Amino acid sequence: MRIALFDQYRIGIVDGTSVRDVTDVVDSRWHGTPHVINELIEHFDELEAPLRAALASAEERPLADVHLLPPVPRPGQVLAAPANYHAHVAEMTDSRYRPTNQQALQSPSRAGFFVKSSGSISGPADPIELPPMPDRAFHHEVELGIVIGKPARGVPAERAADHIFGYLVLLDLTLRTEGEQQEERTMRKSFETFTPIGPFLVTADEVPDPNALDLKLWVNGELRQQANTRDLIVGIGELIEQASGVVTLRPGDIYATGTPEGVGPIEVGDVVRAEIDGLGELTLPVVKRGW
Ligand code: MN
Repeated sequence: MRIALFDQYRIGIVDGTSVRDVTDVVDSRWHGTPHVINELIEHFDELEAPLRAALASAEERPLADVHLLPPVPRPGQVLAAPANYHAHVAEMTDSRYRPTNQQALQSPSRAGFFVKSSGSISGPADPIELPPMPDRAFHHEVELGIVIGKPARGVPAERAADHIFGYLVLLDLTLRTEGEQQEERTMRKSFETFTPIGPFLVTADEVPDPNALDLKLWVNGELRQQANTRDLIVGIGELIEQASGVVTLRPGDIYATGTPEGVGPIEVGDVVRAEIDGLGELTLPVVKRGW
C-alpha cells in the first residue's frame, strides 16, 4: 500500500492518481493530529483488515485535489547513517567540506548513526527553506528512508525486516562548512525543512528488495545523483542491528540510510527532484526562509 497523509491529517490509500480516505479505522482521539499515522503503524496488525474493508467503500478522490503532508510528520526519532556509499566516502575525503571528525569516512561499517531533529521533517508540498547564512553552503543528499513498524531492541540483521513498516524517499539536507570551524552535525542537518520525506509511505510488502532500488536526484533538471541501494556499505539489516543495539527503535521512527556520490549545492530558486524506484518522487522548490 501507498499511504498518504493529507489535508487535516487524513490518512489515504493511494492508487494511481486517486486517494481513498481510511482515517476512521484509527481511534478517533488521534484524528486531526499528526500522530494518527504513528497509531496506524503501531497497531497495523489489528487495523489492516478493517482498513482493507474501509477501502472497498471509501470515496475515491483525485490525488491532485488534496494537500499532501509529510507521511510521518512526528517520528519519535530520526536516525541517519553517515557516508554509506564508497563513492560518496571518496568524494567527501577529497572535498573542501571534508568533515573535521573523519571517523565516519575512515570506517563506515563501524560509524553507527547520527541524529537529525524530528522537527526538520517536511513533506511533498513544502518548499526547502534555506536560512540566511551567506557564508555557508547547503547540499542535497537523496536517501532511502526506512520507517520502523515494530519496536526493535537488540535485533540481529537477519531479523530486521520484521521490524520495518515501509519505505519512503528522503532528503538529508545539510549545511556544509569549509575548514575547522564546523558546526555540530546535528545542527547542520536539523534546520526546518531539511528532512523532506514522501510523497507516500510505501509498505514493505510492496518493496520486494530494498537493497536493489535505484535512486536519483536532479537539480533544475540536471541529474546530480544516481545510484542503487545495492551499493550501500552497511546494508539495511546491519543498520538496524547497530542502531537497535543502542536504543529501542519504535513505530514511526525513521532511519535515513545514507547518500551516494554526487552531493552538491542548492540555492534559492532551484528546483530539486528526487526519485526512488517504486516509492515515487519529490519535487521541491528551494526558497529563502521567511522568518
Ligand atoms: Mn545523509
